Amino acid sequence: MECDYIFVSHAHLDHLHRTRIKRTRPKVIASNATSKIACTRGYELGNLCYDHGFHLLDTGHILGSIGLLIADQLYYTGDISIRKRAFMKPALIPKAKVLIIESTFGREEYVFPKIESVMHEANILISEMYHQGRPVVLLGYPLGKAQILTQLFHHWEPLFVEDSILVMNGLYSDLGVSISVHKRYSLAEKEGLLSSDKPWILIAPLNSCKNGFLSHIKKKYAPITIGFSGWAVKPGYKYLLGLDHCFPFSDHCDYNELIKVVEICGPEKVYTVHGFDAEFANSLRSLGFDADPIQKGKNRDENKSNNSTMLKDWC
Ligand SMILES: [Zn+2]
Ligand SMILES: [Zn+2]
Repeated sequence: MECDYIFVSHAHLDHLHRTRIKRTRPKVIASNATSKIACTRGYELGNLCYDHGFHLLDTGHILGSIGLLIADQLYYTGDISIRKRAFMKPALIPKAKVLIIESTFGREEYVFPKIESVMHEANILISEMYHQGRPVVLLGYPLGKAQILTQLFHHWEPLFVEDSILVMNGLYSDLGVSISVHKRYSLAEKEGLLSSDKPWILIAPLNSCKNGFLSHIKKKYAPITIGFSGWAVKPGYKYLLGLDHCFPFSDHCDYNELIKVVEICGPEKVYTVHGFDAEFANSLRSLGFDADPIQKGKNRDENKSNNSTMLKDWC
C-alpha cells in the first residue's frame, strides 16, 4: 500500500502490522511509548514524525495509546477508555466534525460495573481463598490489563507475575509508570515458593488458557482462576475460557461510555469501526447522529464472530 503516513494508535498486536517498504517509506505517527513497546514486541516503527496539523490525544486504553486529530476536523479514537483504572487516566476527547470511533462494545448489553465494585467482589473472593489456603490466578491480557491488575492487587502477598507479563511491567516502569515490583513465576517455582496448600497470587496472561500454561498450573497447584475482561458481561464467557470466575473489566469504553465520547466530541458525521460497528451506528442514528459503519456490508456471522472475538481478547 502506498501512503504518506502510517498512524499506530497503540502497541496491541491487532494494531501493529509489518509493511513491505515501498519506494518511499511512509512517515510514522505514534507515541514514544508505543514505539518502545512495539519494539520490545518485535515491531520496529522507525523514526516518528510530528507534522504540523496532527494532534495526538491520550486515549486511556493502554500506556502510550493515542487518538489522531487531523486539522481540528477529523478525530480517530483508536481503542479508547474514559474510565480511570489504577495509573491509567481517562481519555481526552476533542471536538471534531468527523469522528471515527472504535465500537468493540457497541451493544447495549455491554455496560460494565464500577471498578470499585469489581475490586470489592474480587478482594472478597481472594480473601475467601486465602482463608481456605488456596492459590489464586488472576488473568488479563498481557499488555495493558495485566499491568493494571498487578497494581490493583499488589496488596496481596505473596504475589508473583508470569514471566512475559513481568517484561511488560518492567517496560511500563521504564516509561515512568509507578508499578510495584514482584518475583517472576519461573523463579518462584524454582525456589519452591509455590504449593497447592498455601495461598499465593499469580498474575497470568488470559491467553494462557489456550497455550497450556494455565493447565500446567491447574494440574500442579489447583488454584482458582479469575479472569478480567469486558466480554465477561456475557454469562457464557467463563465457560468458553474454562475459568472459575470472571469479572467485567475492560480497557475499552462500554456502550454508555462510547455514547458519551460521541456526545462530547459533537461530530456532524460518525463512522464506527471494530466489534459491533453496525449495531452501534444504528444506536447512534436512533439518538439523532448521522452515523455509519466505516466498513459497510462486511460479513456478519454473528454467533461465530461473537465467540471468536471474545477469545481474541488477548492483544
Ligand atoms: Zn487495544
Ligand atoms: Zn484493538
